[in-house]
Amino acid sequence: MTSLTRADWERRAQALEIEGRAYIQGEYTAAASGATFECISPVDGRLLGQVASCDGADADRAVAAARAAFEAGVWSRLAPVKRKQIMIRFAELIDAHGEELALLETLDMGKPISDSLGIDVPAASRAIRWSGEAIDKIYDEVAATPHDELGLVTREPVGVVAAIVPWNFPLLMSCWKLGPALATGNSVILKPSEKSPLTAIRLAQLASEAGIPAGVFNVLPGYGHTVGKALALHMDVDTLVFTGSTRVAKQLMVYAGESNMKRVWLEAGGKSPNIYFEDIMQAEPAFIEKAAEGLVLGFFNQGEVCTAGSRLLVEKSIKDELLPLVVEALKAWKPGHPLDPATNVGALVDSQQLNTVLGYIEAGHADGARLLLGGKRTLEETGGVYVEPTLFDGVTNAMRIAREEIFGPVLSVIEFETEEEAIRIANDTIYGLAAAVWTRDLSRAHRTARALRAGSVWVNQYDGGDMTAPFGGFKQSGNGRDKSLHAFDKYTEIKATWIKL
Ligand code: NAD
Repeated sequence: MTSLTRADWERRAQALEIEGRAYIQGEYTAAASGATFECISPVDGRLLGQVASCDGADADRAVAAARAAFEAGVWSRLAPVKRKQIMIRFAELIDAHGEELALLETLDMGKPISDSLGIDVPAASRAIRWSGEAIDKIYDEVAATPHDELGLVTREPVGVVAAIVPWNFPLLMSCWKLGPALATGNSVILKPSEKSPLTAIRLAQLASEAGIPAGVFNVLPGYGHTVGKALALHMDVDTLVFTGSTRVAKQLMVYAGESNMKRVWLEAGGKSPNIYFEDIMQAEPAFIEKAAEGLVLGFFNQGEVCTAGSRLLVEKSIKDELLPLVVEALKAWKPGHPLDPATNVGALVDSQQLNTVLGYIEAGHADGARLLLGGKRTLEETGGVYVEPTLFDGVTNAMRIAREEIFGPVLSVIEFETEEEAIRIANDTIYGLAAAVWTRDLSRAHRTARALRAGSVWVNQYDGGDMTAPFGGFKQSGNGRDKSLHAFDKYTEIKATWIKL
């Protein structure tokens, strides 16, 4: 929680100077074409500034700068301990500019300032610091060779990495990629979402200030179908890392195949089950309360979370007892002005996303789901884009609201009668990003965690984890992992050197 009031934040917002240019070879630069697009705040519709609309020509410039820096060895061949020191400095600068970054993030994509400041900024700096601190503690391998030979198994940076990220956690998703990519010695081109480019642009200058050499970290704002596509098709990008929708993730695999077979690592969508077994109602009241809160966490970040527990699977025998507690807990989640430190539900990212979410609410009604709460646009008079947290009961797993990723504050309650049925429904999805189980039965907790086809499974909590836990998806939620040492796999090639002695 910050001591700044809404009025303080408003004053700072008025005084902000927005930097919207690309960052190539250690300096800010307009797009080669001179094109820009308007950056509009979903908080109240205000124009924040003009942002460079990069395209293929800018991708060529940035890739050339990244390649030249990589070949020169100014970063790629720097001793790991030196890279570590610079990355720690970078993390310190993110913390030192935390309020500015949080304000940019909130104005740009609508999330509450308390979340930007309390969650996004510290988690972003932690990702950079953790990766930097790890890099001088990793050893390569010596193979079990015959006596007259020596086999070395070493990891090398892949070279030029293009990172394409989404708008829901712009700073954090950038840092999940930047941390391991930079720590392992690569040059990076970051393409933020056209809906939320501002923190990425600011981050580049902080990286330079920390000592990351020119050309090693470049930022290209712009649209997916222009600069994003150009990077994905580029013949001199070695690895493409992505967080975003499953639809675009599939397209990126095609681009890689059509170009240079660059490595492609994808963090994509989700439709995560959050499963409540009947035994929880015999637990102590504090646990039941925590369980109900775990359920409403589906509204965190306005539901614009890839791991949102948007399918609430509740055992039939406890539904009538549990749902009133949930409805009660939900009342604490109210849309408000994102710069008010008390707000816990902010604005959706833009009016396009608003229409998508309202479209799904309509689909819920049309398919016969029962609305328990919310369901409408709200705070329209602010000029911003807000939706009431919405809860549907009577949902079946065949309905659109249960099958498709909504990416808004909409939760669906689905009943089940046995453990087997819960697992079957939970796994009946094209996605496999996350799942949660609430139970007091230890065997059931382990049994169900094993049976769930998801990259993260939480037991008696939702969305736990830190930099030590790998994060990523099964099935169409993607491949590869962010966070933890497993993330380093994406940014390194393994080389075997076999020496005859
Ligand atoms: P999106 O797929 O529309 O866009 C993501 C990025 O891809 C943006 O930068 C966009 O400009 C770019 N892009 C779009 N078309 C492209 C193309 N043809 N070529 C190259 N780049 C292109 O996703 P979004 O709407 O920004 O974000 C929401 C999605 O992100 C949701 O599906 C959510 O689940 C997912 N997400 C996943 C994770 C995870 O870790 N698994 C985390 C956060 C968000």
